[in-house]
Amino acid sequence: MNTYFARPIAPSALARLRVTDDAGRACVPYTATDGGHPLRCCLRLSEPGERIALVSYAPLRRWAAETGATPGAYDEQGPVFIHAEDCGGPAPSEEYPFSRTGALRTLRRYDTAGRIVGGRLLELPETPAEGFDKALAEAFADPAVALVHVRAVEYGCFHFEVRRP
Ligand SMILES: [Zn+2]
Repeated sequence: MNTYFARPIAPSALARLRVTDDAGRACVPYTATDGGHPLRCCLRLSEPGERIALVSYAPLRRWAAETGATPGAYDEQGPVFIHAEDCGGPAPSEEYPFSRTGALRTLRRYDTAGRIVGGRLLELPETPAEGFDKALAEAFADPAVALVHVRAVEYGCFHFEVRRP
């Protein structure tokens, strides 16, 4: 099993994003003829023919609303794919989501106030789970770090959140 828990977008946030996204735009679901879209509701790639939507999501803002943090200018939003309807969330997995040897990720670290306290680049090794475990252990070794955002390097898009265990 993974040492750290990769969090999908919470069901309550998904319910709202499926109406209006975090940029205030209406959700526009569509049937994707192709697959391979990274879905942040169930942390897997989409299959051709699934009903999905591309919405703006503000992960730090959503977390701050739960914890009372005040990320201020660090609050940002970006595009994520989600299922158009409730999908039941992720199936239990031995792997971190969207893991592929050679893929480039950034791990951004935030403190309890929601401010950035560091980050690093990660090229996923032969065994991606070991690479994630090591990089996340390194992040949480800093007592100031409350949560980590994992993002794709090329598109900059948010993949998943890991909170201090
Ligand atoms: Zn889903």
